[in-house]
Amino acid sequence: MARLEVKKNMKIGIMGGTFNPIHYGHLVTAEEALSQFKLDRVIFIPTGQPPHKTTGKLASPEDRYLMTVMATASNSHFFVSRIETARKGKSYTIDTVKELKFTYGESATFYFITGADAILEILTWKNPEEIITMCKFIAATRPGYNLSRIEELKKKLFGINANPQVTKDSIFIMEIPALAISSTDIRERIKTSRPIKYLLPESVCNYLLKNDLY
Ligand code: NAP
Repeated sequence: MARLEVKKNMKIGIMGGTFNPIHYGHLVTAEEALSQFKLDRVIFIPTGQPPHKTTGKLASPEDRYLMTVMATASNSHFFVSRIETARKGKSYTIDTVKELKFTYGESATFYFITGADAILEILTWKNPEEIITMCKFIAATRPGYNLSRIEELKKKLFGINANPQVTKDSIFIMEIPALAISSTDIRERIKTSRPIKYLLPESVCNYLLKNDLY
């Protein structure tokens, strides 16, 4: 499929994250979602200014965008968008999904893929009642994650939103062993001069070291 081709009834994965930095856990998550949910493409969207507090050093939106481009360049189903890094002010997911709906049309189905810990906070996001009707969620977890918290969240969401579009299939859980890798750990390793090789693509590793990002 040509890069910008937009067809009817597309299934689009929206890979939302700070990607500070992007690593193999993120890439395996996106590939698994592409395969399990038969998606046409996955669009990685690095946040501009995260709406919530980020612990540790946050690389600039442009650096996080560039590292995401480097990491995904060889996959023909992966794309990277500047929707959030180019937007002024905080990066709200509702604004992003609305923009993508405008581009891909009403026939498209969206799957918002992100970490389970982030999804658990969805009730504190901007317009949670609306967003849960506009896309399905894929909560990526590390092995051993306490899944009962996601089940609790589902119950709460049905409670606040009687919309029939909100079903048990509004949130899927995907366990990804590679998510034992984490951006926090990579930043910590850099600070303490421990190796980060093989945790993230070599191009990303070279870029962040060369530019002294963390
Ligand atoms: P975070 O709190 O930094 O991350 C929470 C956990 O999820 C971390 O363990 C993180 O691991 C993991 N994670 C993050 N993105 C992931 C992905 N795409 N695939 C797999 N695991 C992932 O969360 P964040 O990255 O800043 O935000 C996640 C998404 O939620 C973003 O798109 C953000 O814009 C959205 N969000 C929206 C609102 C709002 O609209 N008000 C509020 C909060 C978050 P790593 O640290 O290794 O990545």
